Amino acid sequence: MRVTTIATLLAFSAGSAFAWGNLGHETIGFVAQSFLAPNALSFVQTTLGSVWNFSLGPAAIWADEVKGETAFKWSANLHFVDAEDNPPTSCSVNEQRDCANNLCILGAIANYTTRVVDTKLDDEQIMEALLFLDHFLGDIGQPLHVEAFEVGGNDISAKCSGESSSNLHAVWDTGMVTKHIDQSHGGTPQQYATDLVAEIKTGSFESETAQWLACTNPTETLSSRALVHPGAQIEADVRALVARAGDAEDATITPLACPLAWAAESNAFDCTVVFNFTTGEDLCSGAYFNAAIPVIDLQLAKQGFRLAAWLNVLFDGSTMLP
Ligand SMILES: [Zn+2]
Repeated sequence: MRVTTIATLLAFSAGSAFAWGNLGHETIGFVAQSFLAPNALSFVQTTLGSVWNFSLGPAAIWADEVKGETAFKWSANLHFVDAEDNPPTSCSVNEQRDCANNLCILGAIANYTTRVVDTKLDDEQIMEALLFLDHFLGDIGQPLHVEAFEVGGNDISAKCSGESSSNLHAVWDTGMVTKHIDQSHGGTPQQYATDLVAEIKTGSFESETAQWLACTNPTETLSSRALVHPGAQIEADVRALVARAGDAEDATITPLACPLAWAAESNAFDCTVVFNFTTGEDLCSGAYFNAAIPVIDLQLAKQGFRLAAWLNVLFDGSTMLP
């Protein structure tokens, strides 16, 4: 089976310079898995199978593993949106400006949302759609995946835990996440996800989850509709998209409200936190690390919760979440 081969071959060579690293993606997948409604859970387990241990956790890294392969080179530009803003002075995402021809993470989420429920596709195509959604709903929460400046921070050298050879993007993808999991969450993405799920259910995130499902732009006030029915916009997005994709004569990708709102939230952190450091500062300790970790906790928890909501609407008809 091709996926097995690819996963095995690349497990040791996959670069993590351009995405939440494996730990971050796995954490998001495990968070999502624990909030799946019955039909979505059954779909995920059947579709992923034993190759991915029936779970969105391990499966979340596939899209990074294949993007260097000749057969999947086309997918590399789908992991981000190049927001042409000016952090930390001004931050913004604009679909027309930043996502030409829909060839960015915004268009990719819309595309794979329609494909994951397209009964005309074969099993492997549907599995790939799920694997891409699992990954892209994670990447869109990484602030530097919604930033064009200095190639999303890849061209800014940075120090992490005494190592000067890193760059800003890699520190956010991997450096800080790894140190945080080792220091505070038992060293595994499973434990980290368990701890974030507890924060969502009964902890510091409990009061925020309605807002996470509302898809409001951080610069807008929370609409009363979102408070009455959290998830309404997610449901509207998914239903409009699926209904339209079923109409062969009008099968263009509809711009979605939610992924754009998620991208805007991530991008806002580029102005408030991500680019606020001084040259030579060690980003994996001290003030910068202490400011970044709550953002990482929030973004991983939020995107895992949203991934579950997204799949629940597709397979169970509503977000099925508090
Ligand atoms: Zn990625």
